Amino acid sequence: MTQNEREVAEKTFVMLKPDALERGLVGEIVARLERKGLKLERLETKRLSKELIARHYAHLVGRDFYGELESYATRGDVIASIWRGPGAIAIVRKLVGATDGAEAEPGTIRGDFALGGTENLVHASDSPEAARREIALFFGDAR
Ligand code: UDP
Ligand code: MG
Repeated sequence: MTQNEREVAEKTFVMLKPDALERGLVGEIVARLERKGLKLERLETKRLSKELIARHYAHLVGRDFYGELESYATRGDVIASIWRGPGAIAIVRKLVGATDGAEAEPGTIRGDFALGGTENLVHASDSPEAARREIALFFGDAR
């Protein structure tokens, strides 16, 4: 990394959802982010409460699919993580692919491993504001 790249480095929040752990895809997903050159700063296995998932997905509470999303996200352990690198937020979103695995491009995590629009393996922050909010929500103390 050059000096300038270090200066513009940003942090993003990535969560491996229960299907990633159930299907044994944790190593595969983490390896893709590492190989891209992103740095893993924090990583923790957690079991999410309904309250935490409602705060995390506050913008989706009340949508017709929210009940399904809530039971999916709380049915097993997740892995919460923080990744750092220049342009990390947009880069991780690209590596993850479109929300619906059926639409996601091959070569992306969802395009290669997910079939549908709910069980899509991974969450990644979509903006600097979301990254700050999500890192604070899941890791409190981390900046
Ligand atoms: N989701 C769903 N049905 C939908 C849209 C979203 O079950 O029609 C779930 C899916 O797991 C998705 C999450 O809700 O990853 C958050 O939705 P968002 O639109 O923020 O998609 P993302 O940012 O994860 O691509
Ligand atoms: Mg989102």
